Amino acid sequence: SNLVVCFGEMLIDFIPTVGGVSLAEAPAFEKAPGGAPANVAVCISKLGGSSAFIGKVGEDEFGRMLADILKKHNVDNSGLRFDHDARTALAFVTLTAEGEREFVFFRNPSADMLLRESELDIELIKKATIFHYGSISLIDEPCRSTQLAAMDIAKRSGSILSYDPNLRLPLWPSEDAARSGIMSVWNLADIIKISEDEISFLIGADDLNDDEVVLKRLFHPNLKLLLVTEGSAGCRYYTKEFKGRVNSIKVKAVDTTGAGDAFTGGILKCLASDGDLYQDEKRLREAIFFANVCAALTVTGKGGIPALPTQDAVQRTLTEVTA
Ligand code: ATP
Repeated sequence: SNLVVCFGEMLIDFIPTVGGVSLAEAPAFEKAPGGAPANVAVCISKLGGSSAFIGKVGEDEFGRMLADILKKHNVDNSGLRFDHDARTALAFVTLTAEGEREFVFFRNPSADMLLRESELDIELIKKATIFHYGSISLIDEPCRSTQLAAMDIAKRSGSILSYDPNLRLPLWPSEDAARSGIMSVWNLADIIKISEDEISFLIGADDLNDDEVVLKRLFHPNLKLLLVTEGSAGCRYYTKEFKGRVNSIKVKAVDTTGAGDAFTGGILKCLASDGDLYQDEKRLREAIFFANVCAALTVTGKGGIPALPTQDAVQRTLTEVTA
């Protein structure tokens, strides 16, 4: 059925109505749906693929809004749960004039952290061709154990496990906790997508461009595909058989929010319908280019989910750039 099931957090980002200010200086905030795994699910659906989201929001106005957004985008939200006590997570996010991303999170605890194993839709997980997750949902119990259980169910039923560590350092108790928490599930994944910044955090900045070091530290024996996104430059790939890089396209960057998630959505959409494509370098490079275009188009629009491209938009761009 080519279904991609995305597990983790869905929340509301509050973004200043004017750019380049600190959170304290912001005159007002606009709300935007967010949460990396939810973005990936919406991306896949907008690209014409089949996706579902598993997670928890509050039984409140914001939680219902998020459930509706999934539904509106044809993402199966039957695995979404509503917590009667805790609220939907909120995050206030800004890009300051110095280019620093500043976050203030409201999750003490928020509903997403409270998903219990007994609330998992096991049948939905079993249907997944690909089961995708991040690391934010590994920070706190009970969600951490729930995610490990879901990963186990997915693996046993033959799903491909896809991992985007998506580092959010302020949410972890310490840098060491973040490193060991992210690495604790490393060897279970079939596919890992990581950004250059995250590599430098995990294995040290000096080693960033040394393929030998990246492979030695980050490639585990069962890994099928390691993808390292490099912002406007595109993406590096590593499999057991080959490695290389694929350029992105030149675009006018407006807001990079969601670029990584659009990339992940693009590559998972391709892998869901062609599970062996990583074994054929030509097909793999085509899929990565498709994902780069998805991400590049996302960068040209404001916000995360609103800026994700449709299949038509990606197709048009592919036709233009290959003409
Ligand atoms: P974010 O956390 O902002 O969502 P990220 O740090 O996870 O993103 P990046 O490496 O910045 O990921 O970007 C992911 C992909 O997006 C890149 O591999 C590339 O394909 C595309 N991309 C990002 N920025 C640009 C850009 N300015 N021009 C073209 N493509 C871009």
